[in-house]
Amino acid sequence: MKKVYFDHSATTPVHPIVAEEIIPYITGKFGNPSSVHFLGREVRKAVEAAREKIAQGIGAKPEEIVFTSGGTESDNMAIKGAAYANCRKGNHIITSAVEHHAVLDTCEALKEEGFTLTVLPVDKYGMVSLAAVAEAIKEQTIVISIMHTNNEVGTIQPVYDIGRLAREKGILFHTDAVQSMGKIPVHVDDLEADLLTISGHKFYAPKGIGVLYIRQGSNWQPVSHGGSQERRQRPGTENVSGIIALGKAMELVVSELEEESQRLARLRDKIIQGVLERIPHVHVNGHPIKRLPNLVNLTIEFVEGESLLFSLDMKGIAASSGSACTSDSTDPSHVLLSMGISPQNAQGSLRLSLGRDNNDEDVEYFLDVLAPIIDRLRAMSPFFQQNMIRLRLD
Ligand SMILES: *Cc1c(COP(=O)(O)O)cnc(C)c1O
Repeated sequence: MKKVYFDHSATTPVHPIVAEEIIPYITGKFGNPSSVHFLGREVRKAVEAAREKIAQGIGAKPEEIVFTSGGTESDNMAIKGAAYANCRKGNHIITSAVEHHAVLDTCEALKEEGFTLTVLPVDKYGMVSLAAVAEAIKEQTIVISIMHTNNEVGTIQPVYDIGRLAREKGILFHTDAVQSMGKIPVHVDDLEADLLTISGHKFYAPKGIGVLYIRQGSNWQPVSHGGSQERRQRPGTENVSGIIALGKAMELVVSELEEESQRLARLRDKIIQGVLERIPHVHVNGHPIKRLPNLVNLTIEFVEGESLLFSLDMKGIAASSGSACTSDSTDPSHVLLSMGISPQNAQGSLRLSLGRDNNDEDVEYFLDVLAPIIDRLRAMSPFFQQNMIRLRLD
């Protein structure tokens, strides 16, 4: 059976070139980069070369790059480190309702510790407004965390404007750019970010490696303590093979960005057009223009998301409803709900996220397989039957 992977927002396969790059560092070149002997020194050199590639990829300085275990840790470190370092100045944090749980739950945890929190609403496209941020800022505001691109619907936030406002007010600005890498440009100055999160496994490096960018001179403090690695900002022996992989993956996605994002956008539009042509009662979620090139989020009315995913899985298609992190719970997505989508329609949402390994054949196969699945699921749905009777009577 044909296999189609449409879940790149959950994780990506490690690129073969990236995998090849790692092999020496999980075999012969095993030294601890902190060791002064030749085994340590050769590994240190490779780690620092990777750091430079990563810094270059996002417009940063090498000393502003801190390696972490991934997006979740970077988000935690960014927000907690900024909050603790500035707690004498103020105690107010601003974030949005559509953030990843790594941000939302970190902010909620800080609220439990005594910080105050504003969670900004979004419009029907999942977009945060600059005016709402401006209005929420108080004397006590010390951190603003607004994601660059949303992992469920792909909406691109007005991060530059928010960052500039934060800078004017002397407030630290963090942005989660995990979903942006390799899809749209990520440049720390263009995004006006003081703190920025990326994660390796979302752009063809392995799981368990990420970066927190920390702008030089930012009033931020470490949240863990131990050795002097990463300038004491994130102590612990480095994930050497992860770092090497991340450097290679960065090089790869940056060099192919323009071409690949155009290719992905074309495939994405082909999916949207194909679905809208073939299936009635479907809505596309997210911003119509300001959105990621590789992501499609659909509400398919009168279809239950879980049954749809299961049926697609039976046909070899890996997709997702909402985000992978919430897929083990049956609660509808907090992102879709905050966009004003009904719980019932949020349950029927389907996220398709494309990547390097997808092509036209995948899209055509998906479109051929989807229509009969929807027909079958709707035929079993009492809601659909009732609605069809109502439409006929109207
Ligand atoms: C996947 C993801 C994360 C978490 O990254 P991990 O490396 O899996 O911890 C954080 N934010 C966003 C937007 C994500 O998509």
